Amino acid sequence: MATDVNPFESLQEQIDDAAAHMDVGDDVLARFKRPERVLETTLSVTLDDGSLGTFEAYRSQFNGDRGPYKGGIRYHPNVTRDEVKALSGWMAYKSAVVNIPYGGGKGGIALDPKEYSLTELERITRSYAAELRPLVGPDTDIPAPDVNTGQREMNWIKGTYETLENTTAPGIVTGKAIESGGSEGRLEATGRSVMLTAREAFSYLGTDLADATVAVQGYGNAGSIAARLLEAEGASVVAVSDSSGAVYDENGLDAGAVREYKTETGSVTGYGGVEERSNDDLLTADVDLLIPAALENAIDADLAEDVEADVIVEAANGPLTPDADDVLTDRDVYVLPDVLANAGGVTVSYFEWVQNRQRFYWSEEQVNDELETVIANAFADLTSAFEDQDLPNFRMAAYVVALRRVIDAYEQGGNWP
Ligand code: NAD
Repeated sequence: MATDVNPFESLQEQIDDAAAHMDVGDDVLARFKRPERVLETTLSVTLDDGSLGTFEAYRSQFNGDRGPYKGGIRYHPNVTRDEVKALSGWMAYKSAVVNIPYGGGKGGIALDPKEYSLTELERITRSYAAELRPLVGPDTDIPAPDVNTGQREMNWIKGTYETLENTTAPGIVTGKAIESGGSEGRLEATGRSVMLTAREAFSYLGTDLADATVAVQGYGNAGSIAARLLEAEGASVVAVSDSSGAVYDENGLDAGAVREYKTETGSVTGYGGVEERSNDDLLTADVDLLIPAALENAIDADLAEDVEADVIVEAANGPLTPDADDVLTDRDVYVLPDVLANAGGVTVSYFEWVQNRQRFYWSEEQVNDELETVIANAFADLTSAFEDQDLPNFRMAAYVVALRRVIDAYEQGGNWP
């Protein structure tokens, strides 16, 4: 894994590359390459043994020209200021790609949640929520889950905000449990948009998803649900991995059973006595469809030379380095970018927020139907840009479409002061 690439520099390079195909001045472009605001704070929390724990925490608000800042909160030891800035930028462009009325934000705490008890995690999360309070709100900045956070953390943040503000505000976060104002379909939404994007891509390329073999790197929320939904479309999931390693079965794994095994044991390795491989082997497996669903920079230029898949659908944010992207474009591997493929999470977050504001809730079927429409429309917008402007790849098409939408919103609003 190439961990030495700075994700914020990757984001800026992607924006520059897209701008080269657009009529936009460097002065205006500079505004869209950096966050508007970054909170960096040190949380001080009493741990169970009575000692004081300190934790670096961040919230980046990248761009709010199209609506409230929107984006997840990550708990991971590798969280840095630059990573959070990059992820917030990808959120701004992702919301624009799927044309939902949000800007981009992202937050994180540098910690490994496995090292802390439940009560410690709750105190850390509530301390972070208190720090966020002046910045967030249902009309200003709306956090959501990301790596190692979920409904539990969202409910704590909502509870803290509501207590401090003496109000009820379910729309302050998305990704909540249903009982706390969450949406049907939200848990599955990212995996579902990965499946929908793959389906659109295979249909665009004139091949049948039902005949495809699939490898999934990262068997968490996004990866395991994408695997299960792809299996339901008839595809054969032959390899999956998590941080402990990869399992492979050329006859197809049972995606749901692997997920259950991981829930019980904590990892996919050891599942069903099938062949085990290294994480790098999974990324270069001879499959039709590769789904990186772990962390950023999973595939660098060297690894990209050995990728055997015909199509990559990015469930993770930023899983390819820019150099890897160039190699894959040269090798005619179709890469469906993160800003489209994993946009189901933010799209159903948007539906959740709409329901919270209306205090009126939709069925799962309605959520899934609306999501399908959003992804299909976004895919059509991307393929139009890809073909009409003769762009080198779908990522470029996504950034050209998104950057245009964000710049238009900014220019229509004008500058102040
Ligand atoms: P998660 O914590 O549920 O799962 C991550 C998985 O990746 C885990 O199984 C972990 O073991 C595995 N992993 C970590 N390092 C690995 C490695 N080196 N090789 C193989 N596997 C490895 O997280 P998630 O919510 O599924 O998020 C995964 C990615 O999808 C992230 O990039 C996240 O930003 C992106 N994403 C998630 C959502 C969402 O709604 N969950 C939405 C948009 C984007």
